[in-house]
Amino acid sequence: MTNVQSASLGYPRIGENREWKKALEAFWAGKLEEQEFLQTMKSIRLKHLKLQQEKGIDWIPVNDFSMYDHVLDVSFMFGLIPQRFDSLGDKPSLKHYFAMARGSDNATACEMTKWFNTNYHYIVPELGEKQPVLVHNRPLEAYLEAKQELGIEGRPVLVGPYTFVQLSKGYQPEQRQQVLDGILPLYVQVLAELQAAGVQWVQLDEPALVTTLPEEDLASLNLIYSELRSAAPQLKLMLQTYFDAVEYYPAVTQLPVDGIGLDFVHGKADNVRALEQHGFPQDKVLGAGIIDGRGIWRADLNSELNLLETIAKQVALDRVLIQPSSSLLHVPVSTKGESKLEPVLLDALAFAEEKLDEIRILKQALQQGREALQQEIDIAEAAVKTLNQSLHRQKTHVQQLVANRHEEPSSRTSPFEIRFDKQQEKWQLPLLPTTTIGSFPQTTEVRKARQSWRKGEWSQERYQTFIQEEIAKWIKIQEDIGLDVLVHGEFERTDMVEFFGEKLGGFAFTSGGWVQSYGSRCVKPPVIYGDVEFLKPMTTEETVYAQSLTTKPVKGMLTGPLTILNWSFVRNDIPREETAFQIAFALRQEVEALEQAGIEMIQVDEPALREGLPLKKSRHQHYLEEAVLAFKLSTSTVSDTTQIHTHMCYCEFHDIIDSIRALDADVISIETSRSHGELISHFEEHTYDLGIGLGMYDIHSPRVPSVEEMVSMMDRALSVLDHKLFWINPDCGLKTRGLAETVASLDNMVKAAQIYRKKS
Ligand code: GLN
Ligand code: ZN
Repeated sequence: MTNVQSASLGYPRIGENREWKKALEAFWAGKLEEQEFLQTMKSIRLKHLKLQQEKGIDWIPVNDFSMYDHVLDVSFMFGLIPQRFDSLGDKPSLKHYFAMARGSDNATACEMTKWFNTNYHYIVPELGEKQPVLVHNRPLEAYLEAKQELGIEGRPVLVGPYTFVQLSKGYQPEQRQQVLDGILPLYVQVLAELQAAGVQWVQLDEPALVTTLPEEDLASLNLIYSELRSAAPQLKLMLQTYFDAVEYYPAVTQLPVDGIGLDFVHGKADNVRALEQHGFPQDKVLGAGIIDGRGIWRADLNSELNLLETIAKQVALDRVLIQPSSSLLHVPVSTKGESKLEPVLLDALAFAEEKLDEIRILKQALQQGREALQQEIDIAEAAVKTLNQSLHRQKTHVQQLVANRHEEPSSRTSPFEIRFDKQQEKWQLPLLPTTTIGSFPQTTEVRKARQSWRKGEWSQERYQTFIQEEIAKWIKIQEDIGLDVLVHGEFERTDMVEFFGEKLGGFAFTSGGWVQSYGSRCVKPPVIYGDVEFLKPMTTEETVYAQSLTTKPVKGMLTGPLTILNWSFVRNDIPREETAFQIAFALRQEVEALEQAGIEMIQVDEPALREGLPLKKSRHQHYLEEAVLAFKLSTSTVSDTTQIHTHMCYCEFHDIIDSIRALDADVISIETSRSHGELISHFEEHTYDLGIGLGMYDIHSPRVPSVEEMVSMMDRALSVLDHKLFWINPDCGLKTRGLAETVASLDNMVKAAQIYRKKS
C-alpha cells in the first residue's frame, strides 16, 4: 500500500453561518465582553481543526486562524505597531490589533490591499518605524492549543520572511537587506521555539515566489532559508507557494528546506512542465496542490488521479502530500446549506468542507487503488460531466459569437476627434461639464424597500413606484444643483455585479456562499455556471424613466465585462477570457437597447479591470489586450454621437495607461483625490487625448469639500490637461454617503466649476 499523506493549507475562518463575523462585530459594538469574544473565537478555531481531523487530513494547519488577517497577525507578533497607536498603551493589546486594522479615534488604520490576485485584502505591514521584537510566538501558541485540546499534531503556518518583506511598506528598495536582517532573527526565534516544543513540520507561505521576481533574489532566498534551517535543524520546513507556477523552479526546489508546495491548479501547465523537465529533489517532500483552493467547482477525481500519476513518475508517492492548491480561505465554507440551487449545479460544487472530502477520496484511491473508490470517483465524474453537457453550457449562439469575436465590430465608426465634434454639436455641453459616477445614497429606506419586495411583502408595483419616486427626487436635486449630465441613481441595485448577474442568463446565486473580503466584511460572489446570455433589457426602464423627467441628458449605467468577471466565481471548463467575451456580447445588447430607447450617453464601469492583472508580468499584455477587446466589443456598435463613458476607482494606472487609452471611451472618470499629486505629475509627462474627469473629492469621507479647494484642484489638473476634454465629477459613486453631505458637496463642486469657467 502506498503511504501517501494529505495536508490542508488553511481553512476559512468565517464559519458556516458567518459566526466569526458576527462575534467580531458584536465585540466591536461593545455587545460582547472580551473574555466571551475570545472564547467564541477559540471555539470556532477548534471546531475547524476538529472538522479537518474528522475528514482524515494528515497535516492540519494551525495558526491559519485569525481574528482579522493573517498578515496583520505577523506584524503584531513582531511588534510592528506603528507609533501613531502608542497612545493606546505600551503593552500590545487587542485594542492595538484592531486599531491597526480599523483605525482609532486619533490614528488612521494601516493600509489595506489585495492579497495577490485574490479578492482577499490584507493589512500592509509598516516596517522602518520600530525595531521588530517578538511579542509572542503565535504559531507556537496555536500548536500547543491544538495539541492540548484535540490531540492534533498540527503544522503551524506562517507567512514566510521573503513574502512578508515584499508585502510590507516603509523602506526603500535599497534598504531591503537591512529590513530582512531585522526580521530574520525573529523568524529564527519562532522556529527554534517550535522545534524545542517538538513541532515536526512548519509551513512557510511564500506566494511571492510565483510573481515575477528578480533573479538576484535567489541568492537572498538561499541565505534566508539556510539561516532558518540552521536555527532549527530538526524542524522540517515546508516552503509553500500558490496562485501560480513558481518562478525559477530549479533554484527554488534546491533551497535548503524539507518540502516544496506547488500549485497544480493555477500554475498547472508550467509546474508540471518544470517537474517533468527538471525532476524533483530526492530529499524533499512535494506538496501537490491539486484541489482548487480558489474555485468552487467539484474536482473530476479521475483526471486528478491521472495528474497524480504524472507526478508520481517524478516523485515517489510516499513523498507526496495531496492538498488544496492554496488555503481554502478563498472559498465558501460548505454547500450543505444550499437548498435553492438546481441539482445539476449543486452537484458540481465543492466548497471548503467538500474539498476536504475530495482530498480524502484521492488519498484512499492512491492507497487502495482506484477500483476501491470507484463509486465516489464515478459520482464526481458524472457531476462534472452532467453540468458540462447541460443546456446551460451548450448555448451555441453565444459560443459562436465568442469564437468569431474577431469578426465582430470592435471599434467605433469614427475616430475620437470626429466623434468629439459631433458630440459637442449634439450635446451642447458647457466647458468643464459636471456629472457624477452613478449611485446616490442608498438610505436605510431604500434598502428596506428592496428587502420588503424581495420577501414578497411589497408587490412589484409598489416597489417600482418607490424606485421611481427616488429617481424623481434625485433628478430634481441634480437639476437644482445644476449638474450637466444626470444619472438615475442606481436605487434598484444592491451591488453593481449582482444586479446584472440576476438578469443575465448563466448566473446563479448561492444562499451561503460567503467568503472573507477584508476583516469582518464578507462577499457572496455570483456564480457564473453557464454560457452568459442577454435575456432582456436590464436597465432601460429606470433610465428611460429618469430621462423622461428632464431635458438634461441622463447617462445610462452599466458594469463592464471585466468587473463582472473579476468579482464572480468563474467556470473552469473554459478559459476565463471566453466568459469575459460572453459577458461583453451580452452587454453589447444592453448598450444597444439603451441607445434605441434614446439613452445616448452610456457609462460602462470597469473598476475591477486592473484587479485581473495576472501575477506574472509576462502575461500582463495578453490580459490587457483581451480586456480592451471585451470592453470595445460591448461599446463599439453605437453611433458617433452616442457618448461612451467609463469609470475606474483607482489611480495607479501609470502602468496600464496605454490600455486605458485603447478602450477608446469618449470620457473616463477616475479616482484622484487620494493621490492627487501623483496622478497630475503623471499627466505632465503623458498626454491624455480623450475626455477625462478627475475625481474632485474623496467620497470615502463624509467631509464636505469647500469650493476653494476644488477650484485649486481644477487649477492643478488643468495646468496639465486640456480644458476642452476635462470633466468635473466626484471620485466614485455616492451610494455610501448621506443625503445632506452629498447635496452640499455636489453643490460646491458645481459652484467651483462655474467659477472656473468664468476664469477661463
Ligand atoms: N456606477 C457605480 C456607482 O456609482 C460605480 C461604482 C464603482 O466604481 N465601484 O456606484
Ligand atoms: Zn469607483
